[in-house]
Amino acid sequence: MRNSKNSFQKNLLLTDDDIGDDHIMTSLATPMRPDAFELSDEEKMAKIEHHFREIMETMGLDLTDDSLRGTPKRVAKMYVQEIFSGLNPKNRPSVALFENKYGYAEMLVEKDITFYSNCEHHFVPIIGKAHVAYISNGSVIGLSKINRIVQYFAKRPQVQERLTMQIAQELCDILGTDDVAIVIDAHHLCVSSRGVQDVNSSTVTAYYGGNFMKEAKKNEFLQYLNLSSNSNVTEVLQS
Ligand SMILES: [Zn+2]
Repeated sequence: MRNSKNSFQKNLLLTDDDIGDDHIMTSLATPMRPDAFELSDEEKMAKIEHHFREIMETMGLDLTDDSLRGTPKRVAKMYVQEIFSGLNPKNRPSVALFENKYGYAEMLVEKDITFYSNCEHHFVPIIGKAHVAYISNGSVIGLSKINRIVQYFAKRPQVQERLTMQIAQELCDILGTDDVAIVIDAHHLCVSSRGVQDVNSSTVTAYYGGNFMKEAKKNEFLQYLNLSSNSNVTEVLQS
């Protein structure tokens, strides 16, 4: 007992470098400070602008140059209003459900949803495609809303496993069903543009809930994506 506790603790003794290069996720919820929303967006942008100017100046850049002068302000605005806007619950998409009047009982697949996210370990882009499926239990969701939910969770500092799970959980909650499946295939620029500099690899993550845990439903979904359960998708999951 004592030994297993010790080895468990030992596994947690990762350095910050280990966590960054191995892309380890620590929790399903995005780790946020209790005071995350005490500042207004305007106050956050002013602070980020100030600190980003400091970073640029520390690197030796001349901020009096016409091309660089506005960069701290542009970055601050981009962080708060665009690429990290999904941190703020006020930007969570409101979703109206419709009655499944047609009695459509098969899976609905929304595939090739392009998203741009950012790796939370290096703050460089993750570019990928999300494929989402669900089976209605009486309610249906507008197709553009599936897209918006993916974009909302992508616009955070992320790790791909958490992005996959957060989208799955949101859809399960909204649709009131466990019959949700997600496959995400993404390129991480922290792998291609730095570190091991592998430009060809991509990372596949998947979530299969409810009926999608059954081999037949899983395979039907993967067939729509031109994948099979013998391909890399499940190999990644089983490893
Ligand atoms: Zn990274």
